[in-house]
Amino acid sequence: MRTHYSEDINPELDGKTVEVYGWVHEKRDLGRLKFLIIRDREGFIQITAKKGITDENILKKIDKLTRESVIMIKGIVIGNPKAPRGVEINPEAIDIINRADSPLPLDVTKKVCADIDTRLNNRFMDLRKPEISAIFRIRNKIINAGRRYLLKEGFIEINSPKIIASASEGGTDLFPISYFDKEAFLAQSPQLYKQMMMAAGFDRVYETTTYFRAEEHDTRRHLNEVSAFDVEIAFIRDEEDVMKILENLTTKMMEAAASCEKELKLLNKDIKIPEVPFERITYDECIELLKKYGKKIEWGEDIDTEGEKILGNIMRDRFDTEIYFIKRYPLNTKPFYTMPYDDKYSRAFDLGYKGVEISSGSQRIHKHKLLLERIKFHNLNPENFEFYLKCFRYGMPPHGGFGLGIDRIMMQLLDLSIREVVLFPRDRHRLTP
Ligand code: ATP
Ligand code: MG
Repeated sequence: MRTHYSEDINPELDGKTVEVYGWVHEKRDLGRLKFLIIRDREGFIQITAKKGITDENILKKIDKLTRESVIMIKGIVIGNPKAPRGVEINPEAIDIINRADSPLPLDVTKKVCADIDTRLNNRFMDLRKPEISAIFRIRNKIINAGRRYLLKEGFIEINSPKIIASASEGGTDLFPISYFDKEAFLAQSPQLYKQMMMAAGFDRVYETTTYFRAEEHDTRRHLNEVSAFDVEIAFIRDEEDVMKILENLTTKMMEAAASCEKELKLLNKDIKIPEVPFERITYDECIELLKKYGKKIEWGEDIDTEGEKILGNIMRDRFDTEIYFIKRYPLNTKPFYTMPYDDKYSRAFDLGYKGVEISSGSQRIHKHKLLLERIKFHNLNPENFEFYLKCFRYGMPPHGGFGLGIDRIMMQLLDLSIREVVLFPRDRHRLTP
């Protein structure tokens, strides 16, 4: 049985017998002295074997060891100022549990070596690097912090279907699948279902969910399978009530990331915690600002990748903020369920972080008649939405919500590409591992 993780072994344990389990990270042979660096989930420990002192059988076993083999070491802790962290183990027993083949597909000891494709092709090995596993420990922390915040605010976690019969929002970015003798799709979002939960009287729901998007992107911020927090809230006054939840949720997630000191040190990153409320600018102000900086966007057009990036710089330089809301988007560019602000504008918003959208949301339409009009305006067939539309005829409260991309917030927090912050990313070219 493991008695200690490597990290827990310190000079104070001098003279104690411990048992550690892990991988052979490095092996050095100086003739009379043999060193092993054992790596486990929490860090490293040095094993020092000496000719004449260490049992001959153990020395022989060490000679035969290959890097990345899984081993057990039982031995005595020795405080030694020359050893890493001032401590090492003199082995009394070694068990080679599973010998690794060589050569290795990837060098775990080198910080930056292989290109991203080689790394992803050997992801299990890549993830053994402490600075890579640090990314996913931070990810674990921010997801948990998000959940904790939402539960504290009275949200109920739901699971909506991921196999659906028709598009949630229209559009073409759906993956078709064969479903017995019918056509079905992978869900691009839980949108319609979480709205139905508002009609069901659940008031506040969230889902830690997967979006499947058949978009033919090839960027550093798009994948075809995405993780997100998807949230819906009833009895709101307007979109501002939704934005408040989103800014608090985001802040809690960032605070959780900032608390991962060890991991951030490995990644050489600092995280700035924003102040609530976040800066808010309207779409029109956005277009104006961009124009001043030489980026022309026609009114009613999406703010493209370049525009988003420039806007991120403007917000940093002029407003001293990395995170900001863009609200009051033109109505007709937004999905059919978006609540109009007036004839021209909507109650939709985006959350930008360092020049990349990390969340979109809005107040939704809760009146059946208006919803039907907007569905028709978008050239969608109301018959495909009957199961959903029905909910609006028998008591639907006012509501709104958002989707917050977990992969997106992670990549922006750590200034990495999206492929680095997802365990096994799915893009146009990658389906394995
Ligand atoms: P974008 O315009 O950046 O492509 P979107 O507006 O199409 O994103 P939404 O439908 O608004 O995306 O989804 C809500 C959130 O989910 C986004 O703000 C983003 O954080 C995340 N998201 C959506 N699609 C993707 C994707 N293909 N890759 C990564 N994250 C995504
Ligand atoms: Mg969006």
